[in-house]
Amino acid sequence: MNYSFRKKNKIVKYIIIHYTGMKNLKLAYQKLSNRNSKVSVHYLISRKGIIFNLLCPKFKAWHAGKSRWRNDENINEFSIGIELENKGHEFGYSNFTSKQYISLTNLIFFLKNNFYIKDKDILYHSDISPHRKRDPGEKFYLNKIGITRPRYNNKYKKNYNINEMLCLYGFNKMYVKNYKRYCIKSVKRALNYKKISSSISKKFMNDLYNLLFH
Ligand SMILES: [Zn+2]
Repeated sequence: MNYSFRKKNKIVKYIIIHYTGMKNLKLAYQKLSNRNSKVSVHYLISRKGIIFNLLCPKFKAWHAGKSRWRNDENINEFSIGIELENKGHEFGYSNFTSKQYISLTNLIFFLKNNFYIKDKDILYHSDISPHRKRDPGEKFYLNKIGITRPRYNNKYKKNYNINEMLCLYGFNKMYVKNYKRYCIKSVKRALNYKKISSSISKKFMNDLYNLLFH
């Protein structure tokens, strides 16, 4: 099992949701608990809804990799990682099971209460590493675990351009500048689009606007 100690001045404030992206549960479990894999995670939820606690959240797991969110960098320092069993885009991406949603709801309820994590800080791997990661992907529905993204009040400013909206969504400014097309794809996944491209249609601008504002 890979882990390190959290730095004393870094508090846990995020939950990062992933999919395993592996052919089966056994392979995923082996990889996540193997020292040579260079990855690890705190929780793994099988398609049957079984929650495996692989690492105590007081330690830092290696699930996020190179990542940024707003002004935070290296999100492993601040986060608890949860992997959902799913073959993923590479091996046969399927819907998450209702048992997974039920277990995830319970686990997040427990973690929110113990670590004072806010709904707005429950994120996807694709949010924090948009240029590298697609998980949990467009078949994951945040509202099925009773969470909604934060909405801003837009009393004072009505027109936002795409870069401003991507930054408000939470992407790090450097990522918006360098990986804009990946940020767009990541938002489309969060909006559960069926077709994921980096094109900026009028519909997309409207959908993003409605996601951000009251
Ligand atoms: Zn991931």
